[in-house]
Amino acid sequence: MYQEVHTENIVERAHAPEVAELLQRFALHAPGAGGVSYEALLKDLMPRFGDDLMVCVPTEDGDYRYEHYGREITRYVGGSRQGERISQMTPQVARFTIQCYDQALTHGKPMYTVHRSLKTVRVCLWERLVLPTTSANGDRFLVVFSRPLQFREELLTTVLETSPSGIVALRAVRDDDGNIERTIIITANRRAALMAGHPDENLLDTDARTSLPFLSDAMIWRRCLYAIELRRNDIFESSFTVNGREIWLQLALAPLGDGLVITLTDISELMIANLTLQSRAATLALEIGRERATRRALSHEIGQREEREQELRRLAETDPLTALLNRRSFIEKANREILACETDGDDASLIIVDIDHFKSVNDTHGHVAGDAVIRAFADLLLGLVRPERDLVGRFGGEEFAVFLPRTGSAAAMRIAHRIQDALTMRELPTSETMSLRVTASLGVATRESAESFAEFFARADSALYRAKHEGRDCIRFAGADVAEAA
Ligand code: GH3
Ligand code: MG
Ligand code: MG
Repeated sequence: MYQEVHTENIVERAHAPEVAELLQRFALHAPGAGGVSYEALLKDLMPRFGDDLMVCVPTEDGDYRYEHYGREITRYVGGSRQGERISQMTPQVARFTIQCYDQALTHGKPMYTVHRSLKTVRVCLWERLVLPTTSANGDRFLVVFSRPLQFREELLTTVLETSPSGIVALRAVRDDDGNIERTIIITANRRAALMAGHPDENLLDTDARTSLPFLSDAMIWRRCLYAIELRRNDIFESSFTVNGREIWLQLALAPLGDGLVITLTDISELMIANLTLQSRAATLALEIGRERATRRALSHEIGQREEREQELRRLAETDPLTALLNRRSFIEKANREILACETDGDDASLIIVDIDHFKSVNDTHGHVAGDAVIRAFADLLLGLVRPERDLVGRFGGEEFAVFLPRTGSAAAMRIAHRIQDALTMRELPTSETMSLRVTASLGVATRESAESFAEFFARADSALYRAKHEGRDCIRFAGADVAEAA
C-alpha cells in the first residue's frame, strides 16, 4: 500500500493550501503542559475548515471512533462514518491510520500523511494533517484535516490508462542496514499488467520481481537497483518470453522517491520489421554480388570476343607472311588517305618496290630462305617510313607498295633512296646464321589531281617497269619521263 508519513517540512509537502494555515493556527494554540486545547482549537477551526475535518477519539481497546465526519469527506467517501470505528475500514488502511494516530498522540506534534485507499471503483490518494489535542478534562482528541488528491489522481489515472506504454512505479523496501531487500509495486497501469502476462491481476502492493517477469533477469534487476541508488535515468532494450511468446521491450528507468518508475514500450514489431529488413538487405547484397559476378563474366566474355574480332579483322587485313597490309586493305586505306589529302589540298605519293631476281634466291637458297628474305625486306621497309601515317603493303610475291600521304615528289624520292641505300648497306637474314644481300627496283609516283588510285598505281607500276627494264637496282619517277616512255 502506498503511504507517506512526515512530521517535518509539512508545508512543503502538502498539496492543499489550507494545511499551512491550519499549522499556523495550531502553533498559535501553543501547547501548554497538557498539549493544544481541543476545545479552543475546535472553536477556531470549525467555522472555516469543519467540512474537511474529522475528529477522532481513542477507544479503550486501541481503536478510534469518529466524533465528527466533515461534509466534504462524506461526499468523497459516499457516506458518513460518524460514530463508526476506524477498524471498520479496509484492514490495510485501518492499520496504517491507527498507527499514525497513536504516534501523533504520543509525540503531541502535527503529522502529515498520504495514503492510498482502495475503493471499489478506483484508487484514491488522501492527504491528512493530524493534529493531537487534549480536552479540558484530559481526554485526547485528534483533529484531522482530510482531503483527497483527487484531481492529481484522476489526471494520473487517465494518463496511465491511456498510455500505449506500460508504466510501473516501484517503492524500495530496505533492510535494517539500508540495503534494498525488494521493491513493491505502487502503481501499474493495465498495459504494464498485460506486458507482464497478468492482464487481469491487480499488481498493487505485490513484490515487483515476482509480478514482473522482466525483473527476474539479473542484469535488469541490477540496473533497476543502480537507478534507485544512484538516482540516475537509464534506458535499454531486452527480450523476454511472456506466456510462451517472445517480446522485445524497451525499458526506461527513472528514479522516483525511494523507488523507480519503469516505462515499458513493446518494440517487438519494430524488432521483427528490423530483422526482416536486415535479412532482405542481406539477400539483396547477395543478389547484387551475383549480378556483379555475372556482369564481370559477361564483360570478360565481351572483351574476349572483341579481342577475337579484332584479331580476325587484323588477319583479314594483313598478309600472313609479313604482317603487312594485304593488297585489298592497302587499297582501301590508301583511298581513304587520298580523300583526306584531296580535301586539304595535299600531295600523296606511292612507291612500288620489287626485289630483283628473286626467283634465283628461291632457286639458290630454297623457298624457306626466300620467305625469310621477304619477311626481312618487309621489316626493313617498315623501319624506314613514318609509323602510324605511311602505309606499307605486300602486293604480290616479292612486290611491295608504300603509300606516303601528305608527301610531295621530292620527299617521296628521298624515301625511295633511303630504301635503296638500306639494301646496299644491309644483308637480309635467311636463317639464324645466314644472310644475303638483295637489290630492288623502285617506281615512284606523286598523285595528280583527280587521279583515281588505279591510274595512280598504274603510273607508279610503269615507273617500276622502267626501272626493271633499265637495269634494275634503280629508281624511276613517273612523271615527264612517263610521257616520254609513252
Ligand atoms: P625480276 O627481277 O624481274 O623481278 O625477277 P624475279 O625473279 O624477282 O621475278 P619473277 O616475277 O620472275 O619471280 C618472282 C618469284 O618470286 C617467283 C616465285 O617463286 C617467287 N615467289 C613469289 N611469292 C613467293 C613467296 O611467298 N615465297 C617465296 N619464297 N618465293 C615467292
Ligand atoms: Mg622480282
Ligand atoms: Mg615480281
